Amino acid sequence: TGMPKAAKTAKAKSTPDVTLTHPDRVYWPDEGVTKQGLADYYAEVWDHMAPFIVGRPLALLRSPDGITGKGFFQKHAWKGLNKSIDLVPDPKEKGEEPLIAIHDLTGLTALVQAAVLEIHPWGSTVKDWEHPDTLILDLDPGDGVSWQEMIAAAHEAKERLEAVGLAAFVKTSGGKGLHVVSPLKPKGAWPDLKEFTKAMADAMASDSPNKYVSTIAKAKRGGKILIDYLRNQRGQTAVAAYSTRARPGAAVSMPLAWDELSSVGPAYFTIVNAPQRLAALKRDPWATFRKSEAPLAIKTSAKKVRK
Ligand code: ATP
Ligand code: MN
Ligand code: MN
Repeated sequence: TGMPKAAKTAKAKSTPDVTLTHPDRVYWPDEGVTKQGLADYYAEVWDHMAPFIVGRPLALLRSPDGITGKGFFQKHAWKGLNKSIDLVPDPKEKGEEPLIAIHDLTGLTALVQAAVLEIHPWGSTVKDWEHPDTLILDLDPGDGVSWQEMIAAAHEAKERLEAVGLAAFVKTSGGKGLHVVSPLKPKGAWPDLKEFTKAMADAMASDSPNKYVSTIAKAKRGGKILIDYLRNQRGQTAVAAYSTRARPGAAVSMPLAWDELSSVGPAYFTIVNAPQRLAALKRDPWATFRKSEAPLAIKTSAKKVRK
């Protein structure tokens, strides 16, 4: 089978300059995934994942005892961080501890050593903090919403994004929902992106009030899909493509081709089956992501509204 070969590659790749303490500690008990298994997983997916996490401030969910223990979100640097992890001071947070970024697989392995079970990047890079290069619509199903309805919502978001000249990509969250993501030329400022995505979420909700809501307060009524645009703000994050989730099932956030949606579910891809999926792919459905950057059409749409 192809498994031993894949495992060998992972071993070779996942040992760079970081010593994992307690490599046998079990992080996902149901699947038997250990700390070493997590490091091996990231070594396998690194080439695909790197463009979405390198050089970005990261919020990290750390769970030293695995998914059954207590987890905590951390975004500022702490003492004893491995040298491979970059400390990046937020230009707008003078006097605070720096934020955290990585630039290679060693850095990612160091995050595993620090018991990081989820990686949540900003939508802008440390080269250009104030100009987002990634738009994300976080589609959250209310109680009773079907997968078919989630797929329809994702397609509607895609059409609306494409109508203003943006490319649209989709990934599972590894939780309950989907993320529709557009690569942006980093020209517009954060408030422009928030305004644009708010207008889009509000339009979806007002055109189909029985299907969609754009505010968290209304989402509590259930049965509808929350079009959560609030990830599109400075300092906010969404889980990275290929990040694991600190939840039962060992699911990961998996980039998909649009026509794959109907054959999977939000937590279909896991630490266990994701490497096989990637190895079997003829073409990475997100291969053209960064090449597809387009500018936000905020000025055009604002003009239209004013008329
Ligand atoms: P699901 O599909 O289950 O909704 P999700 O990752 O989209 O999974 P959300 O609750 O919708 O989860 O949150 C969206 C994003 O907001 C998260 O991926 C995360 O980056 C960020 N987020 C949510 N809660 C927190 C938190 N307490 N601290 C930091 N970031 C958070
Ligand atoms: Mn969500
Ligand atoms: Mn959400």
